[in-house]
Amino acid sequence: MQIIKGIPVSGGMGIGEAIVIQPVIQTTTEITGEDAKSAILNAKKNTIELLDEFIAREPPEVADILKAHKLMVDAIVSEALEEVEKGRGAVAAINSVIDKYVKLLTASGSSLIQLRVNDLIDIKNTLLENLTQKNIEHVKKGSIIVIKEIQPSQLLRYKNQGIAGIVSERGSYTSHVAIIARNLGIPAIFGAKNVTELVKNGDLIIVDGFSGEVLINPDKNTVELYNAKKKTFTKLIQLFERAKDKHAITTDGYKVLVTANIGSEDDLNTALINGCDGVGLFRTEFYYLSRQTLPSSEEFSRILEKLANKLEEKPLTIRLLDVGGDKPLPYLSSPKENNPFLGLRGIRYLLKYRGLLKSQLQAIVMASSKQKNIRVMAPMVSTIEEIRLLKEEIKKISPKAKENIEFGIMVEVPSTLFLLDKIIKEVDFLSIGTNDLTQYLFAVDRTNEEVSHIYDDMHPAVLRAISEITKHAQKKRIPVDVCGELASNPLAVPILVGLGINELSVSPTSIPLIKWIIQNIPLERSKRLAKEVLTLENGQEVREKVREFLKEYLGENIPW
Ligand code: PEP
Ligand code: MG
Repeated sequence: MQIIKGIPVSGGMGIGEAIVIQPVIQTTTEITGEDAKSAILNAKKNTIELLDEFIAREPPEVADILKAHKLMVDAIVSEALEEVEKGRGAVAAINSVIDKYVKLLTASGSSLIQLRVNDLIDIKNTLLENLTQKNIEHVKKGSIIVIKEIQPSQLLRYKNQGIAGIVSERGSYTSHVAIIARNLGIPAIFGAKNVTELVKNGDLIIVDGFSGEVLINPDKNTVELYNAKKKTFTKLIQLFERAKDKHAITTDGYKVLVTANIGSEDDLNTALINGCDGVGLFRTEFYYLSRQTLPSSEEFSRILEKLANKLEEKPLTIRLLDVGGDKPLPYLSSPKENNPFLGLRGIRYLLKYRGLLKSQLQAIVMASSKQKNIRVMAPMVSTIEEIRLLKEEIKKISPKAKENIEFGIMVEVPSTLFLLDKIIKEVDFLSIGTNDLTQYLFAVDRTNEEVSHIYDDMHPAVLRAISEITKHAQKKRIPVDVCGELASNPLAVPILVGLGINELSVSPTSIPLIKWIIQNIPLERSKRLAKEVLTLENGQEVREKVREFLKEYLGENIPW
């Protein structure tokens, strides 16, 4: 048996025979003249039909990505037809239009824009397949796909053929294809180096989507062990389902809100189905990114009102635009910076471009005059002055709103840790952004694979920071939540509860699991656990301690 390790991007266990997928080689013969135009239109029709089929069948998050693909297909085909008019062949026209955009986008160097590049490559392959009537390889039900890089449309087609898991050499946790795998419940591991060379067709493979381990040709005992783990996991999912409509209250009566991180209305729909207690983080930049131009404050206000209305009494926490870093908005000006994560990002950007800030605040004030459940928070705050300037802007727009809308900041820059005694006097709540807090505490770029071994949000250094923040919040009796990825990590939940966090804002599909964990642990023991892990030396030691703890309350067979 050989074991290789990658990044676990979608939980669950997959056991099956490997099918190694070779990259698509484009040895397509060119289609020219009058035939070129009709071939492109035909490929467009088939591609759109395929996308429509998936959109109708798949959950909202997946459908959302595919709707964007549909828009891109439309735009690409119109440009390709112009190329054909100029005398180009159909294959060359599609290749040149898409390659031009890929080149343009790749030059931006942003990981978020990279998602769009992957989408474009996916569309190119689908259009070319349809142009030449080439069919995707058929795989046997229960197979494990082993591949250099998988595209969303490929994954959806393999899913229909009943695959049991995916192992890919490339890809990241935040890529669209990873989001789709998670939503479809297909165990997946990305970043498994050289796996397409190490594995042969027909090898028996185990994909452990929790640990990130790929077991190649395991012995009989290991297969039995994993079969048992898989059974347990299937049963666990039924328990999570039952937990989602009840409050997250520990066995000794401490209530924690489990809210959602959203970027769109579809995300909110998923969160509501999964029993969210509100929205702890609406990443407004994702709404802005889904558009071609800036929304007017009326337009943005209507969106906010709609989301707040859907939540009824539950809170909607709106984060002001967090552009900059790895999230530039194509239609807004941004300076070229050597270190964008240390540059004009979040509140710094908004305070420089006041018109944009005012427009967002006006929208929030307008929406909050009709909906009472709106809270606002600022990203990337590093000084008290930024908080004051922001509050002044709110006051200028509406003195009443300043009194009525709850105002908070994200604690994600280390300077704020040492200013907390002053900050707590200025805000109604604190929200801990552990993704950035970890990045800035360790001085490690969160998107840089070279240093990803240092990035650990379960390190005692991060946990000690959270402990300090909660102590300050408790002193002033203001609520404190965690909205970074750490809140969605089952191993972190008892520690965060033990440290006194009031709210965990998690990915919409993680809500049932997180509620289930809270419903099964006691606060008093969680407090002791939290105290203990703060004295440890590294994240690995912390994880080991929590595993022992969780086994005691959730049973021996938990998969984390
Ligand atoms: C964070 O930094 O933890 C966070 C929630 O914000 P984002 O990931 O959008 O930077
Ligand atoms: Mg952040």
